[in-house]
Parts: sequence; C-alpha cells; structure tokens
Amino acid sequence: MNEPVSSTYSATAGIQHEEALLFEYTHEAPSSINLPGVDGDIPAELSAFTRQNPAGIPGLSEPETVRHFVRLSQWNHGIETGFYPLGSCTMKYNPRVNEQVVRLPGLAHIHPDQPDDTVQGALELLYELQQWLTEISGFSHITLQPAAGAHGELTGLMMIRAALDARGQQHRKKVLVPDSAHGTNPASAALCGMYTVELKSGADGRIDLDELKAHLDNDTAALMMTNPNTVGAFESNVKEICQLVHEAGGFVYGDGANLNALVGVARPGDMGIDCLHINVHKTFSTPHGGGGPGGGPVAVNTTLAPYLPVPRIEKQGDTFSLSHSSETSIGSVLGSIGQTGVLLRAAAYIAAFGSNHLHKIAEDAVLNANYVLNRLKDAYHVPFGGLCKHECLLTDDIQEKHGVKTLDIAKQLIDLGFHPMTIYFPLIVHGAMLIEPTETESRQTLDAFCDAMLEIAARCEAGDTDMLHAAPVKPFRRRLDETQAARKPILVWPST
Ligand SMILES: *Cc1c(COP(=O)(O)O)cnc(C)c1O
Repeated sequence: MNEPVSSTYSATAGIQHEEALLFEYTHEAPSSINLPGVDGDIPAELSAFTRQNPAGIPGLSEPETVRHFVRLSQWNHGIETGFYPLGSCTMKYNPRVNEQVVRLPGLAHIHPDQPDDTVQGALELLYELQQWLTEISGFSHITLQPAAGAHGELTGLMMIRAALDARGQQHRKKVLVPDSAHGTNPASAALCGMYTVELKSGADGRIDLDELKAHLDNDTAALMMTNPNTVGAFESNVKEICQLVHEAGGFVYGDGANLNALVGVARPGDMGIDCLHINVHKTFSTPHGGGGPGGGPVAVNTTLAPYLPVPRIEKQGDTFSLSHSSETSIGSVLGSIGQTGVLLRAAAYIAAFGSNHLHKIAEDAVLNANYVLNRLKDAYHVPFGGLCKHECLLTDDIQEKHGVKTLDIAKQLIDLGFHPMTIYFPLIVHGAMLIEPTETESRQTLDAFCDAMLEIAARCEAGDTDMLHAAPVKPFRRRLDETQAARKPILVWPST
C-alpha cells in the first residue's frame, strides 16, 4: 500500500489507545468512591425502594476515569486539530481572544435574573452587538434570543405568522422552499403550523423565476431563501424575487447561514428580504458542532418588529434595562436574552475586525473557496460553472466511472489527515461534495488539502482503488453504520 502524499496522519499515530466503553472497564471493586453505610434502619416509607441488585456503577478510580475521557477526546477532530472544510457549516477557527473575553468575571459570573442595575456593562455590550448585527445585515431591529439557526427560522416564521394573522390572513400557510435548501427550513415551517412546497432549482442551481411565479398565490405565507445558496451560488435575481413574493402578499425569509460570503460587503436587508437569521456561531467564529452551542439572532424590518420576542434590551439615556412589555410580541423563545456566551464571542470577533475590515472575512472566504475550486476543477466534476461564493461544490461523476464514490473519497481524506467535506448535500446534485475552507486557513493548508484530493483522483484514474474502498484504515473505528447509529442509538448499558 502506498503511503499518502500528505505528511499528516489521522489521530491514530504514536501513543494512541484503543478505548473500551466505561462500563467494560469495571473491575471487582464496586466503585472507587467509598460511600458511608446506611445509618440505622431504613424508614418504612422508603423500604419498598431498597435496591435488590448492584447499581452497575463502574468500579473505576479517578485516573482511570479521566484517562478514558481524555483518550476519547484525542480521537476527536476539531478546528483546533486540523482543517475542517465542512460546507454550509462555516467551521472557522475561534481566536483565543474570544475565550478571554467571555471569561471576564463581569460577563462570566453574572446571572440572568440579577437586577438590571448590577449588569449594566453586559447589557450595554449586548445592546451594542444588536446594533452591529443590524448594521451588518441591513435591518432595523433584531432579537438575540434564538439558540441556533433552526431556532431562528422558527422564530422568524412565528413573527411572519403573527403579522399575517394581524392582517386577517390566517389562511396563508404555504411556504416556498427551494430544493437546495437546508433541511431545517421545511422542518421549521412545519413546526410553525405551515406547509412547504418545493421549488425546483434552475439549471444554474439558482431560484427559477418562472417556477417561483407558478407557485405564488393567495395562500403563500413566505419564501425561504438562502443566499448565497447551498450550491455556493449568489441568487442574482434576489431583488426581483423579493418583489414577486411581496406582490403576492407573502414575506421573504432569509436563511443567513451563509452570511460569511457577504459580511461587510452586501446586506440582505438592502435586497428586500424581510427577516434574516444570523448563525453567529458560524459567521462569527464560536466553536460549534455535535449540536451546539449556537446562537441564531433574527434581524427584521419595521413591519415585523412589533412581533419580536421579549425580553428586549432597552436604552434610556445611558441606562440599559430588559423590557418584558409588548402586547404584540410572539413571547419568549428562550430564557432571558439568549446564549450569552456565544453572543459575546461573536461580539469579540466583530470588534477584532472593526467596521473597516469586516469585509476581509467575506473576501478571504470567497477567495479561498475559489482557490480550492480552481485547483480541483479538472480532477472533479463541477456541476455549476462560474465563480463560487464561500464554498465550492464538486461531485463524484468522474470517479464513479472507476467505481469510487463520494463516501470513499471522504473516508480516504480521514487517512490523509483531513476532516471530510460535507457529503451528499445539497441533495440536488448526485454525489455532492461541498467544501467550505473559510477565511481562517492559510494557502499552505489549502494546498495540502487540494494535494490530497488530487492524489485521490489520480489513484482513481490509475485504477488503484482498493485503498479507497478500504479507507479509513488509520482510525480505530472505520466505516460505521451511521443510519443505525442515528436511528437506533443504544443509550442504556444493560445493567445486571
Ligand atoms: C447550518 C444551517 C442551518 C441551521 O443552522 P443551525 O444553527 O445549525 O441550527 C440552516 N440553513 C443553512 C443553509 C445552514 O447551513
């Protein structure tokens, strides 16, 4: 077997331990903690609950327990271990200064229920963040409350629902969603009591105006639009799209997960969009993954502003307070102001660039994606031509002729020391590979990744595909049954 060209290796080199489940380590001692025996008789009312069998607590010492979890963490791959080109997720490096900011005692040691006059600094900072985010996105009002992008979608649609209801248009329940959209879009609409109709994308991967027109009618509540969309293309007809939806009496919901491509350069609010969630954990660098943590502030125009969640941060003179009073609000969607730790990291990231340099984020992200696209475009099929925005889309069309699929390519990348890109999303192309390098990667890193991808393509051409089908061979766990793991997770260890 040939050694990979890359000199990086996945997390199995050197002193790495295979790891059993915590419960499989259990040895004779019932537990390393000596609990005192029961003093006196068990009260009668508790006697029915007397344990008949051992509790099944692993008999581990503290060092054994610590090593177990630290070893598992060494199996993990994160943005601080290496390149993480996960398309549509914006996995960028989280600068250390963010961590210093959130650990300041005046921010880390406060409680949401403290009197407002004892947390003026924190309220001021969050108020200022609201202003920065509305300025960046081009809207007049915002809520910081939602805990993630998907939660922002739900919050935004609830506000749209409230606005339609206030117009006496309870019947408008149809939400148009392009077929390239993230799965959270239709899920949020359904959770909000609406139903979705899928819009078939045009040949260029963008919203097709005729398709849109054919589906707009008196039942339309909203169009959910991601821009740039998930094939990495900018929706060039966005003003016309918004106009058509508005003329039909609907709202345009902007999925802002891809704001990284626009930040400091273009503003969705200026394009006619009514409401936009911002995935602050993506665009503004908070580390995330495995389901959290996140933040999904929703920016709105003046039409939707009356429906914003409470509490809202208010400023009177130099004093800040939380206001719970609003008759038109949709209510609270999360406790207090939102995920403050995530929001403050976003504030630190924005402040580090400053208004004069924020555009560098988008410019470098787009440049990096196009660099990767250009290095790989002859070796891999590119379904939609032209420049991409902050992520580039490839497929396995060329490699499939040699019996190699997107999954094989992704698994081989693990052996070559890279986290795979997003695979099989978006759904509108066969064998999708969506690569988002972000602005925080150097040219050396991008070149090493492209070299690995080109090496994989060259192996396919040479018919040297056994290794690709076997990959990954370096990690302890290889090809898992991910469907089974997601649908039937074993959450309880059989206790005796
Ligand atoms: C990530 C993402 C979402 C969902 O955001 P979460 O913060 O993960 O809930 C929605 N749409 C797109 C296009 C995304 O990339």
